[in-house]
Amino acid sequence: MAKVTFNNKNSVFYDSLKTRVDAYFKENHLKRTGNFHLFFKALVLIPAAVGVYYTLVFIQPAVIPSLLLCIVLGLTLASIGFNVMHDACHGSYSSTKWVNDVMSLSLNFLGGNAFIWKMKHNVIHHTYTNVDGVDDDIAKMPLIRQCSSQKWMPAHRYQHWYSLGIYALSSFLWIMVMDYMKYFSKKVYTTPINNIPVREHVIFWISKILYIGFYIALPIYMVGFLPWLTGFFVMHGALGLTLAIVFQLAHVVEDVSFVDANAPVVKIEDEWAIHQVKTTADFATNNKLISWFVGGLNFQIEHHLFPKISHVHYPAIRLIVKDVCDQHGIKHVDYPTMGSAINSHFRFMKFLGKK
Ligand SMILES: [Zn+2]
Repeated sequence: MAKVTFNNKNSVFYDSLKTRVDAYFKENHLKRTGNFHLFFKALVLIPAAVGVYYTLVFIQPAVIPSLLLCIVLGLTLASIGFNVMHDACHGSYSSTKWVNDVMSLSLNFLGGNAFIWKMKHNVIHHTYTNVDGVDDDIAKMPLIRQCSSQKWMPAHRYQHWYSLGIYALSSFLWIMVMDYMKYFSKKVYTTPINNIPVREHVIFWISKILYIGFYIALPIYMVGFLPWLTGFFVMHGALGLTLAIVFQLAHVVEDVSFVDANAPVVKIEDEWAIHQVKTTADFATNNKLISWFVGGLNFQIEHHLFPKISHVHYPAIRLIVKDVCDQHGIKHVDYPTMGSAINSHFRFMKFLGKK
């Protein structure tokens, strides 16, 4: 792994930003963690997922309604990931630690692993965002090329088409392949996981076995192999596509930057916070429905600057961030609609696919 450093000696930008954001919470007497709106989301989404699962496995509607319900299940699980798991794993869901710890396990309920995620996402992705050679989120070579420092291959000419298929398989590969690779290699891409406590080994295996029991064995027993196989991949298609697209729109679009860290030592000239703004984009921030569904992940710049603040506060914080960016002459990339961000992502993928 490359040794990557930021120019944090004179962090004027972050200092002024932090002063303004601290003042906002103080003046409005607000906690930085989640509020009733966030707890309400968990109260809606988790029972909805359990209800859809119960209907599919035990009530067993006809084929077309079942397939539609599999899509609904995939979308609901994605929304639990965005709204509950993501905040909880950052410690911003609640001001009480054990509530965050318990809600983090919603990722295990989805099939993943909260301990590995915190290493991959909180530590690596949030520090070394878009740093090629370190950030696991843009490490999909040789399948897809996500920045110009990655080696070009002829198949990449078509990546703006076939990447959709890879995105649709992404949650299946995450749960069934990548988690095990990270666990057994004790590595997240190029970063070693130095210590996995015994408790985490136990949680890893119990939740993976429960996943196989509830998402594979029990449905096969109840509905039969082929109906399960079809439903399982339809559900993963909806889940994977949704998760991948939302994460791609934040960092792999035309107007953000990347850093090549395929060298032993890399010095980034910007302070860490400026690097976060330059490598990240917002989208559809005026769309209340999208903001609700993606758990504020459309406010990614604000999230990357303040990952320990719950997403329920990002609309207010965004105004401060934009203002401080203007004062410091830093571009705040903001796509007005989700459609414009999706277009930008696939145009960028097509551009990277050209030799
Ligand atoms: Zn995050």
